[in-house]
Amino acid sequence: MGKRDCAYLRSSTLSELEYIAHYIHNKFPDRPDRQTWIGDACPQSGNCSGHPNGSHAGGQRLDINYFVIDDHNSTQYGISKEYPYIEVCDGEKVTSKFDWERNYYFIKKLVEITGNDTSRTCDAIQNYIFQKLYKQFGRTVGNEWYQMISGDIGTKWQHHRHYHLNMN
Ligand SMILES: [Zn+2]
Repeated sequence: MGKRDCAYLRSSTLSELEYIAHYIHNKFPDRPDRQTWIGDACPQSGNCSGHPNGSHAGGQRLDINYFVIDDHNSTQYGISKEYPYIEVCDGEKVTSKFDWERNYYFIKKLVEITGNDTSRTCDAIQNYIFQKLYKQFGRTVGNEWYQMISGDIGTKWQHHRHYHLNMN
């Protein structure tokens, strides 16, 4: 639900994305909202406007919204009253609406099938998921998480609102 002219993805990338979305859908059957929300992807050629150089080009890069603990969600652009957007960060604090499990397993699966570990989140979210993993599984699993994705400081690229996925 991003920009209409930046809705292009390669078919192989779309297949991988569908595979991961189904995996999350089936792994967490108890969640009220079980959809994966896509924001900006890529235009047919060139780079999607409003994103830094080449970050939304080539049909293998896109934004997805974080999974939340709620009965609905949307992208940060918001599409209707039925599917309002839900913030998961309050400044540097990650809120209780943030569904760390689905957000973690999504990236873990992405890295497994694409081999790409250069997707991006924000540092607050990266640290939050580390803390959850550390508490539940120990330091090794927590440290592995830091190898799967990068965390940007601040909110300039809106990564407190969506994952930026590199799937090539
Ligand atoms: Zn992006």
